[in-house]
Amino acid sequence: MAQAKKGRLNYRCPACFMRDLDIDMFYDEEKDEYYCLRCQFHGDEKKVLELNEQLRWKYGSMRERITEFDD
Ligand SMILES: [Zn+2]
Repeated sequence: MAQAKKGRLNYRCPACFMRDLDIDMFYDEEKDEYYCLRCQFHGDEKKVLELNEQLRWKYGSMRERITEFDD
């Protein structure tokens, strides 16, 4: 409750994650959107979730192949 302004959940910035940076986004109550202090990326919750989902799929597939290769 003390950290209400950071949003219900901490979302990772998808734009930074693409560059291997794991940055938590902040929540802007007035605009009802999340923003990143590092790269200027901003978007509503739906957009952030969508992009994170795409990245998870992409990176997840990559890791799977690498693991298989090592085996
Ligand atoms: Zn960012």
